[in-house]
Amino acid sequence: TVAFRGVTKRYGDNVVLNGIDLQVAAGEVLAVCGPSGSGKSTLIRLINQLETLSSGEIEVDGQPTSTLSGRSLRELRRHVGFVFQQFNLYAHLNALDNITLALRHIHGKSADDAQAIALALLARVGLQDKAHHFPSQLSGGQQQRVAIARTLAADPHIILFDEPTSALDPEMIGEVLQVMKSLAHSGITLIVVTHEMQFAREIADRVIFIDGGEILEQAAPEQFFSAPQHPRAQRFLQKVL
Ligand code: ATP
Ligand code: MG
Repeated sequence: TVAFRGVTKRYGDNVVLNGIDLQVAAGEVLAVCGPSGSGKSTLIRLINQLETLSSGEIEVDGQPTSTLSGRSLRELRRHVGFVFQQFNLYAHLNALDNITLALRHIHGKSADDAQAIALALLARVGLQDKAHHFPSQLSGGQQQRVAIARTLAADPHIILFDEPTSALDPEMIGEVLQVMKSLAHSGITLIVVTHEMQFAREIADRVIFIDGGEILEQAAPEQFFSAPQHPRAQRFLQKVL
């Protein structure tokens, strides 16, 4: 579970998030939407301490995160995976080694075990035949699927996705969404910042809409997309749908 209690984030005088209260249940799929600059990335980056909060508290599995550092912070990030818009693969490592690196050095797996796990994960994202390709030899959609496989290697309870398909050409979006769909309701909590409204509608348990640093609306996707209540959510949906 993830719990935000009165979370505020400021950059100088700019209040980006203002007193956010939010609970995400274990195994839930939460879609986060809102206009550009509304604080969506900041919200999820706070969860695994890619950003530090200004006030309030975030708990992950009942543990306050703001006091973590060193080993306990690494432990948190192991349980809370992050998938970036720009994939962030290691350019000098092939797909297999992008995945085995953490398995060997963080999880202490032997070379053989790490390879077997990595190959299974590549198969899970449909890329078993690309193990020896370098990122530059893969399409954007393939790179993002390797990045998801790498995140899965840590066996996370929670995965945070920050617009995982928005750097992709349209024809590659589907293959990445398909992999994400296969993770939904598999026990892993997914928190997904996305502009893919159809995807949110199909797989999310709940949608939150943020603007002006606040959660203006939260609802089941059917409710949110067919009958948004807040005028700003209505305007937003008119533009993106
Ligand atoms: P987008 O849809 O464009 O990705 P977003 O909803 O993810 O937008 P954030 O990236 O969370 O928005 O940014 C929210 C606000 O915080 C913006 O006004 C942005 O300029 C500001 N901001 C983000 N990161 C920093 C930073 N490192 N320093 C100063 N201001 C920042
Ligand atoms: Mg963002």
